[in-house]
Amino acid sequence: MKVNGIRNLFQFSGWCLDRIELDPVEPHVWLARDGRPKLHCPTCGMIMSKNRKVDRTAHELPMGICTLVTLHYRAIQGRCRACGRYSTIHPEHITNQEEATWRIRQFVARLARHMPLNRVGEFLGIHGTTALCFYLWVNTTLSRTYSLLDQKT
Ligand SMILES: [Zn+2]
Repeated sequence: MKVNGIRNLFQFSGWCLDRIELDPVEPHVWLARDGRPKLHCPTCGMIMSKNRKVDRTAHELPMGICTLVTLHYRAIQGRCRACGRYSTIHPEHITNQEEATWRIRQFVARLARHMPLNRVGEFLGIHGTTALCFYLWVNTTLSRTYSLLDQKT
């Protein structure tokens, strides 16, 4: 068997697809940090030094018949030499508080247009409160973006 283009499903800037373990219940996807680019401070943009790596997980979009996909990666904690702040570097749109990718949060928000959030959670194998958090995060982020766009025009 040959699978082409699987890397295109998991494109996160600065991260590479390491491996995928397919399982009928819960597939696991591992990302590895691309070591070539330097780490930049999210606050001031200057180069950061690495302090340590921490194993983290995040919810990812359903894959095939599996609704519960877990993304594994090693978040990098570093210290900025310029501003002295410590920061943790995650794949794009994954934060310390929201352990989910942007696209699963968007998927939950789209499903919430057609069914109650507790049903969305049941459908995706997550708690209803988690689905509510994803829904609120997407709506807050989008309304902030739209208000910024309105101010520019
Ligand atoms: Zn800095």
